[in-house]
Amino acid sequence: MDNKLAKWWESQSNGKILCTLCPRYCTIGEGQKGFCYIRENIDNKLYSIGYGKPTGFAIDPIEKKPLSHFLPGTDVLSFGTAGCNLGCKFCQNWTMSKSKIDDINSLEATPEQVVSHAKKHGTPSIAYTYNDPTIFGEYVIDISKIARKENIKNVMVTAGYIDKEARKDVYKYIDAANVDLKAFTETFYHKLTFSHLNDILDTLIWIKNETDVWLEITTLLIPRENDSQEEIKQLSSWVVENLGENVPLHFTAFHPDFKMKDKPRTPISTLTMARNMAIKEGINYCYIGNVHSIEGQTTYCPNCNEPVIIRDWHSVLDVRLSENKCQNCRESVSGIFK
Ligand code: SF4
Repeated sequence: MDNKLAKWWESQSNGKILCTLCPRYCTIGEGQKGFCYIRENIDNKLYSIGYGKPTGFAIDPIEKKPLSHFLPGTDVLSFGTAGCNLGCKFCQNWTMSKSKIDDINSLEATPEQVVSHAKKHGTPSIAYTYNDPTIFGEYVIDISKIARKENIKNVMVTAGYIDKEARKDVYKYIDAANVDLKAFTETFYHKLTFSHLNDILDTLIWIKNETDVWLEITTLLIPRENDSQEEIKQLSSWVVENLGENVPLHFTAFHPDFKMKDKPRTPISTLTMARNMAIKEGINYCYIGNVHSIEGQTTYCPNCNEPVIIRDWHSVLDVRLSENKCQNCRESVSGIFK
């Protein structure tokens, strides 16, 4: 498939191109690629060279994204591409995110073919995931537009590092997003991800307050990097104050990977501490992930505290909701359940 002319860029007086898709704002010379590897200056025009070259196609449970309040118990067609616009030293998906397009086993698939694939497998949604879909925004738009016409929903799994104007285009046909809030300090973001906390907080506020996208948040807890009680308290309280008590928060366990092999796995006691802290700060729906914990993966009614969606790992064991109401007390539970 031919490379796709990119949507978000400007020519500069020095002959280079400024990519305006994410807050990294790479300046890209002729024949060069941006930080994310999949946007290239060819003959003084910027091209999305990852367009139509997906990799890692899988049918996942939606709980794996993780999304707990969006079509629970359904499957989602998932894929990513090569490259990434962040540089996380702890990347849990680095074989894709750190690959260049020629080094990875990419397929060729038009947007129509991706949607047909979802229809063939009967998945009610498509997830743009694994690396950061921000960097293949043109492909996301073209697929999600067709998917919406076919009544298939669209899910972004992202770090939320995206330009304020570009995000209006990329999220136009998106129905749900799980955004990583990787920590709650600028030091962590700067040192371990090569991005900035405030840009992510801005994206979270925009998604919640200015779009209809269903939002959930994930924080991967890394021992001695972002797992202090104080940081988790601050993060949770920021979510309640700025996004509201009904945005689900997932704390997931880290495993040593990529450039962070010197850290131990996250103990379940840290995840439980974080969940308890978030609930104390007022979060209604808080989950722990990458471990087995029926209690930590079940949704409880925010009024009567009865379990309403019982899960273990990525499996839904029982649903005790009628439409979106608790069967015990009729309280509404936030989310998109059908
Ligand atoms: S999307 Fe890629 S090329 Fe564009 S600014 Fe971000 S990292 Fe750089």
